[in-house]
Amino acid sequence: MSGGFCNFVAKLILKHSKTMHSDPKQCLYCTNNETLHDLMIEFAQLRVSRAFLFKEQTYRGRCLVAYKDHVNDLNELSDEDRNAFMADVAQVTRAMQKAFNPVKINYGAYSDKLSHLHFHLAPKYEGGPDYGGTFQMNPGKVYLTDAEYQEMIEKIKENL
Ligand SMILES: [Zn+2]
Repeated sequence: MSGGFCNFVAKLILKHSKTMHSDPKQCLYCTNNETLHDLMIEFAQLRVSRAFLFKEQTYRGRCLVAYKDHVNDLNELSDEDRNAFMADVAQVTRAMQKAFNPVKINYGAYSDKLSHLHFHLAPKYEGGPDYGGTFQMNPGKVYLTDAEYQEMIEKIKENL
């Protein structure tokens, strides 16, 4: 193959791989749009990420940690940034553990269609919803008052 053709193919592949990732202009974390505020409440900025309380509270104390930048995957970070991100995640789950005393906290990083690294942190309780199984992304059942959300946030922040 000629160099020109190879370059053409390389450009096509690059273009395609870019379209596989979501646009930061459409991203709820990058734009802080209404969808973000409907889903969660930001309560802290950590080393390289932002911590949120998830409004749907089927899993009591559920939180989310999102990386500061529009990065698709953990494996794209430098060692330093990845270690800082995981330190942030563990700092939040340690605070959740102290605040709510779940049996276990489940970690979920999915987002096939949203290329902004984030971890769902879902506490599980013996006999509670989906204990022993996978947590649901959004059961859409349990919502609290603003005062109750603030009370939970204070409890987490005391232990952060
Ligand atoms: Zn983003």
